[in-house]
Amino acid sequence: MKPPICELCGHDFRHQWDGSDAGGGLVQFADYRPLPGNQVGHPAGLGFFCSVHLTQARSLHHLSMIDAMERMQQTD
Ligand SMILES: [Zn+2]
Repeated sequence: MKPPICELCGHDFRHQWDGSDAGGGLVQFADYRPLPGNQVGHPAGLGFFCSVHLTQARSLHHLSMIDAMERMQQTD
């Protein structure tokens, strides 16, 4: 799993994040795939977003993560 750093702006909120939405949160996108078995790593389609970008990221969760990122970069 990646540390809590915003996929869009790179804001590092690992010192605020406690597993809830403090400082930012996790978003599962349409292409989310859990890691098989007990494999260690970061699942596809799962991203951290800071509190500034979390609401917008969640509103785009029906898209693949790449499509959502493109959409957010255009409107930012
Ligand atoms: Zn951000």
